Amino acid sequence: MDRSDSLPLVGVVALQGAAAEHVAAFRRVGARAVEVRTPADLDGVDAVALPGGESTTMSHLLGTSGLFDALSERLADGLPAFGTCAGMILLAAEVLDGRPDQRCFGAIDISVRRNAFGRQVASFEADLATDGLDEPFHAVFIRAPWVERTGDGVEVLAEIRPVVNSSGTGKPALVPVLCRSGPILVSSFHPELTVDDRIHRIFLAMVGASRDH
Ligand code: GLN
Repeated sequence: MDRSDSLPLVGVVALQGAAAEHVAAFRRVGARAVEVRTPADLDGVDAVALPGGESTTMSHLLGTSGLFDALSERLADGLPAFGTCAGMILLAAEVLDGRPDQRCFGAIDISVRRNAFGRQVASFEADLATDGLDEPFHAVFIRAPWVERTGDGVEVLAEIRPVVNSSGTGKPALVPVLCRSGPILVSSFHPELTVDDRIHRIFLAMVGASRDH
């Protein structure tokens, strides 16, 4: 067998948003990566990544491309998935402050609030202590969601104390920004926009574990 065939193939949903950056990051960490725009593009993928961008637009395009139903089926069969920012919103079970017509896959039992960090800190960077990493991860947040509820079996790998809470008042609590449940990994921030590939490596290890199953 050609050695490259044994490398995991990650399909990066490329309807809108920062798909190319994920493709580059997965190639840097030794995976194969393809852009996914149609249901047929999912053939043969071992995992998918849903990038940052605009979740309402992506939800609409997932519907019109036929990818929503095709991907729902694969996720229900246990396909590993990594969602960053808008991708996290799409993989969640519940979206708060979403558009009424916005759909999500319910692949991980979390409730996420869109644009939760407030307008004055719409974009910021922070060093996050992260489970499984020896050194903090420098994380880029862009109009990011946060996690307001985690269901049973959801592990919180990193959290942050926001400058404001969702109502803009009161004492801010720690909120999860990196979560894992089974083969699903989601982040509020954008690991694909920095040169640090450690979170992509965490996901690839999850993909390897699910292939060995
Ligand atoms: N605010 C965007 C949304 O709701 C997410 C932002 C991002 O992916 N950087 O979809």
